[in-house]
Amino acid sequence: MQDLEKKYQQLNDLLDGRVQLDEPLARHTTFKIGGVASLYFRAESNEDLVRAITYARKFKIPFYLLSGGSNVLVSDEGIDKFVIHIKSSDLFVVDESYIVADAGVLLADLVALSIQHGLEGLVWASGIPGDVGGAVRGNAGAYGGEMKDSVDSVEVMRGRKQFIMERKDILFGYRDSQFKQGSDIVLTVKFKLKPGGDVEKMRQQSQEIIAERETKHTPGVPSAGSFFKNVPITDENREQFKKLGIPEKFWEYGKVAAGWLLDEVGMRGYTVGGAQVSNAHGNIVINTGDATADDVLQLTSIMKMKVRDELGIQLEEEVQYVGF
Ligand SMILES: Cc1cc2nc3c(=O)[nH]c(=O)nc-3n(C[C@H](O)[C@H](O)[C@H](O)COP(=O)(O)OP(=O)(O)OC[C@H]3O[C@@H](n4cnc5c(N)ncnc54)[C@H](O)[C@@H]3O)c2cc1C
Repeated sequence: MQDLEKKYQQLNDLLDGRVQLDEPLARHTTFKIGGVASLYFRAESNEDLVRAITYARKFKIPFYLLSGGSNVLVSDEGIDKFVIHIKSSDLFVVDESYIVADAGVLLADLVALSIQHGLEGLVWASGIPGDVGGAVRGNAGAYGGEMKDSVDSVEVMRGRKQFIMERKDILFGYRDSQFKQGSDIVLTVKFKLKPGGDVEKMRQQSQEIIAERETKHTPGVPSAGSFFKNVPITDENREQFKKLGIPEKFWEYGKVAAGWLLDEVGMRGYTVGGAQVSNAHGNIVINTGDATADDVLQLTSIMKMKVRDELGIQLEEEVQYVGF
């Protein structure tokens, strides 16, 4: 970044001396990979977040939003921008059937609060890492549930304006929303849930989901979860999937699991440097200890290429590449 020292001074003066230089981002991603952020700020509240974005725009300093860091691969060179780390944490129940959560609230805390109040609709999200804003942006989903099923509205920052966006305008799709298309920022999310749930039953379901995820996923091992999106069955690829003899459940689901395709081309256990395709799940890339972003990039390029060349199917990343 040009004039880094000047930009640092400008931001640091306005942000209470809390801006840091060269913060290692490997500390803040679930992959435990990534170089440094040239400028770094922890936004502990929505007020912090809005101020940081406003000043960055005022001084024309490019910025990047990082939240739970569970869906990103940060380059080894890091992010030569002002990285605003979203740590806003307000979380409360309103009108007996709504929960309002700041973007920086851990999904786990949101799920726990919903269970505590017998508010049904979010138990499926048990065990998913990351924060509310990142989950809404990517319409996170598991066990037949998706964020879109419970989002009522979102408080958004667009340019200098802040306003409430209703669910219908968020244009949710499979791991997609309008937040992925533009530069709108999720500040706070209001969830509409079903009151009167059996708290004990919900708690048990949540624990079962977490226990099952621990067998399928790779708990404790650094990763970014599923690397590629499942592939929707379309008119263009239907014949190809028939030829491949995909399992019946995928026809019913309307999508083919990327992990199944990767298993077909024998990727489990494949290793490049410190990056490895998990032995437990063909669509999860793990950091075995000293993986670089470059190792992951090389490995995922091979995964993509093999599925394309051997099966004729194009995979698309679910994980966002940052700083490349
Ligand atoms: C072990 C493991 C298991 C996982 N399982 C699942 C699963 O079952 N289902 C699933 O869907 N996902 C899963 N994930 C992926 C991930 O947890 C989710 O996508 C999560 O919701 C991402 O949130 P985050 O806060 O970590 O986002 P980050 O990784 O911090 O950010 C992701 C993107 O969103 C942007 N962003 C973040 N916050 C905001 C905001 N407030 N406004 C605008 N843009 C923003 C960032 O700039 C970035 O581009 C898994 C990940 C791991 C590591």
